[in-house]
Amino acid sequence: MTRCATRTRICAWPPAITANPPRNACPVCDKTRLSLVHYVYGDALGKSAGQAKARAELARMAATLPEFDVYVVEVCLDCGWNHLVRSYALGAVSA
Ligand SMILES: [Zn+2]
Repeated sequence: MTRCATRTRICAWPPAITANPPRNACPVCDKTRLSLVHYVYGDALGKSAGQAKARAELARMAATLPEFDVYVVEVCLDCGWNHLVRSYALGAVSA
């Protein structure tokens, strides 16, 4: 997956579900209400693909589903600014 494609998808993602305490100030509006959101993607997810998940739910999904991708996105709750922090795979790795 290319970074370009990833960024494009993030822009179209649904409103955030907050998951973690803020770490920095927003580079756009300088507010500090930033939150990390974990979005999941993958063919194995069905209708859950593209949704934001809490950490506890990610752990449960990782134990029960085939491999899927997690995108950690930092979101400003004031102006909607967001960017991809990192991405990784969870779930059972197919042989
Ligand atoms: Zn902001």
